[in-house]
Amino acid sequence: PSSEYEELRRRLRNDVQEMWYYISAELNKFKKHIDEFTYDQREKEIQDVMKNAWEHKKSLIINIDKLKKADGYDEWREKEAKDLSDLVQKRFRYLQNPADCNKAKKLICSLNKGCGFGCQIHHITYCFLVAYGTERTLVMKSKGWRYHKDGWESVFKPLSDTCLSTTGTSHSNWPGDSSKQVISLPIVDNVYPKPRSQPPSVPADLAPRLEKIHGHPLVWWVGQVLKYLMRPQDHVKRTLEKAKEKLGFKKPIVGVHVRRTDKVGTEAAYHDIDEYMIKVEQYFDQLETKPDVKRVFLASDDPKVITTSRKRYPNYEIIGDPEIAETASVAKRYSDTSLQGIIIDIHLLSECDYLVCTFSSQVCRVAYELMQTFYADAYDRFTSLDDIYYYGGQNPHPHVAILDHKPRKNGELELKAGDLIDVFGNHWDGFSKGYNIRTSMTGLFPSFKVKNPVDAVDFPKYSNIPL
Ligand code: GDP
Repeated sequence: PSSEYEELRRRLRNDVQEMWYYISAELNKFKKHIDEFTYDQREKEIQDVMKNAWEHKKSLIINIDKLKKADGYDEWREKEAKDLSDLVQKRFRYLQNPADCNKAKKLICSLNKGCGFGCQIHHITYCFLVAYGTERTLVMKSKGWRYHKDGWESVFKPLSDTCLSTTGTSHSNWPGDSSKQVISLPIVDNVYPKPRSQPPSVPADLAPRLEKIHGHPLVWWVGQVLKYLMRPQDHVKRTLEKAKEKLGFKKPIVGVHVRRTDKVGTEAAYHDIDEYMIKVEQYFDQLETKPDVKRVFLASDDPKVITTSRKRYPNYEIIGDPEIAETASVAKRYSDTSLQGIIIDIHLLSECDYLVCTFSSQVCRVAYELMQTFYADAYDRFTSLDDIYYYGGQNPHPHVAILDHKPRKNGELELKAGDLIDVFGNHWDGFSKGYNIRTSMTGLFPSFKVKNPVDAVDFPKYSNIPL
């Protein structure tokens, strides 16, 4: 297929989704404004319009998905995604396994950033991307890890078979220069100058292929790094298999992540389980062939979420382990047991057909990134109740307006095609909030009128690895 065809196909699906967000949100607003005398009658009318609009939307999505199956390119998509993954995994292995560790150029990173597992995984991913961008072998310091005193290798395979030593003849802190054998990289919050190879950059030599194959190349790229980094040790593999069996983890299944405890009220708002389940219900309703059981895998740092939702939703099969959730709660978080729990939860979330969560949580963002390694393109297999996808500490990266917009109401933002827009968030009601760099104005604009362009940056070519 041409790149243009693939882009239009994704845009069409996104337009339908955004139109549904808009219409359903507007209808809900009307409901709030009806007077009490005509309430029953009016409410029923609005409810009927909502149901009909949903049927329209469902049919459109099903047909767009069928068109993709019928266009004859699916085999190509699968093969291209696999070829790309094989290629970058080969480059990663080459980078991480220098012939002579005593002479190799190295980048040193410490795993122990003072934050949770998802945040630490993203920290190591950022280090890995800087290593890739500077052609240095990443060496991780992880002894005394807050989740396990023995460090990374207690659960994941070492990053290298040939080179785990941090020693070298010359040292420097970031940025250093190419003559230094060993460079230490600080956490992303303190890094200066900002490395060009950190997100949202993707390698320019792969960018055209990635843009064609995937709706969100950055997420694909990060997913590939996670695939390399998070290779489980054999005992962890067995633990994952056992957990799946014990829980009865089977497809079709929707993954729900509910982040509570310390996050609520500080970094994210509270969302009732009902808000998640509306999205789960819509996912199942939109399937052309209905499954016998509506199965949900529920992960949380609050065990009550699992017990409550089982009571409240008896027509669902809700699987999840309240004991894992208990060890995940803020009071009991940093131990080998909670480490096992979070590895199981993230892995199972990533293996689901669809994710419903809050992207403000790094747990769900890691699951979404890993999910990309199981499909040619899984960029739209999620609903976030709050943030759009982002990479913590990423370099600034504006969206681009693809359609003009004339404000109709106070608070709306004017757009001209080509304008650069810093997007603060999608309100999931048809509108997003952003800052127009051309006009220096902030406001709301229809979300479907902008796109997220790929940030292609020249990385080392790794040309000894054949394309
Ligand atoms: P964030 O704070 O949600 O952005 O994500 P972090 O991963 O940085 O920190 C949250 C930590 O809380 C995780 O690493 C886990 O230790 C724990 N946690 C949060 N949600 C879950 C969950 O659903 N399951 C498990 N097992 N642990 C969780």
